[in-house]
Amino acid sequence: MSHVAIVGAGFAGVWSAAAAARVRGESDLRITLVAPGEHLVLRPRLHRLDPGWARVPLKGFLEPIGVTHLRAQVTEIDTDARRLVTDDRTIGYDRLVLAAGSGLARPALPGAEHLFDIDTDEGAARLADRLRGLDDYTVVVVGSGFTGLELATELAERGKVVLVERADVVGPDLGPGPRPQIESALSELGIDVRLDSTVTAVDETGAVLLDGTRVAADAVVWTGGMRASRLTLQIPAERDRLGRLHVDRHLRAADAVFAAGDVAAAQADPSHHVLQSCQFATPMGKAAGHNAAADLLGVPLVDFAPDPYVTCLDLGTAGAVYTTGWDREVQLDGAEGKDLKRTILEVIEPPLDDTEEILRQAGVQSNGVSG
Ligand SMILES: Cc1cc2nc3c(=O)[nH]c(=O)nc-3n(C[C@H](O)[C@H](O)[C@H](O)COP(=O)(O)OP(=O)(O)OC[C@H]3O[C@@H](n4cnc5c(N)ncnc54)[C@H](O)[C@@H]3O)c2cc1C
Repeated sequence: MSHVAIVGAGFAGVWSAAAAARVRGESDLRITLVAPGEHLVLRPRLHRLDPGWARVPLKGFLEPIGVTHLRAQVTEIDTDARRLVTDDRTIGYDRLVLAAGSGLARPALPGAEHLFDIDTDEGAARLADRLRGLDDYTVVVVGSGFTGLELATELAERGKVVLVERADVVGPDLGPGPRPQIESALSELGIDVRLDSTVTAVDETGAVLLDGTRVAADAVVWTGGMRASRLTLQIPAERDRLGRLHVDRHLRAADAVFAAGDVAAAQADPSHHVLQSCQFATPMGKAAGHNAAADLLGVPLVDFAPDPYVTCLDLGTAGAVYTTGWDREVQLDGAEGKDLKRTILEVIEPPLDDTEEILRQAGVQSNGVSG
């Protein structure tokens, strides 16, 4: 009996499992998803600091499609022997989908252990606990990328926010397209923006900035960049500067290994690689899962072909800004943008306890709507 193993239960992992189950049909292909937690965590919901809302039980997704969930952390991948090693066992595979995602690149600065983050549901829960019950908090948010901006504008509703950015503009990676909307939201919400700066030390009572200024704060949240899982180091393939594996158009990274989501630097179109985002992780998962199963069953493989790139940035009570294209041309902002963001945050939740609908959606190879 052939075996597809999937490592990771983020958007990429769960949709890989569903796509592999769809290709399996009546065959005896075995599919196992290995991940330590009981939930798919919808990370795009974490800036709202309601971790319960971000957790989707894996059982309701995997059981109806006959995928086994092994609750374990993979510590080693032996691609020669085609085996995964976990704390307490070894698992053989015929095809592997690596979908172990990404984690926050954490800084090595004095007091780093006092930093908060919203990288995981546990991180968001810890920050929510810290701020709960405080009437008028001050939070330092470090980094004004997508995550930093969404968190800063969310927190500004109930307290004071200092947003620290190393570059001389806010949202440097988001480009000039949405910047007027972002700047106007930060000013409307009274966010104290410190450009050309960073945090050089942290303790329980606040942070020290690059120019030596001390900012008293109830929490200091680090939102720097994301790095691919270190499991990528165990795959014999080239990696990019984010640690992501180079993959071909079928998302194959090495012999018998496919990669999807934040661990894979797939080509989105002839001139761009995908960004680490759920809008790419979901269709990558579907293509990789399909191809891993298809490769074993002699079914044609599919090319990874995502929908055009869009982005929708939440700006708290100042609305949201929706852009299209790699130049991020603004299409909607304010309340209209916010309505679209609400819809996106709803539709990213996968169907549960409905075999037919899960397999139907697994067959739609591009995303349709993205966040
Ligand atoms: C705060 C925040 C907000 C975001 N907002 C947006 C947004 O609005 N729009 C958007 O498109 N993207 C957004 N993103 C990015 C998006 O969430 C990620 O790109 C997406 O989650 C990647 O999915 P993934 O399946 O590749 O990996 P992940 O979501 O990182 O999931 C990885 C999975 O692998 C498991 N795993 C890891 N290591 C192991 C191991 N050794 N063994 C077994 N299992 C393992 C983990 O437990 C997890 O289940 C946001 C991210 C964050 C942190």
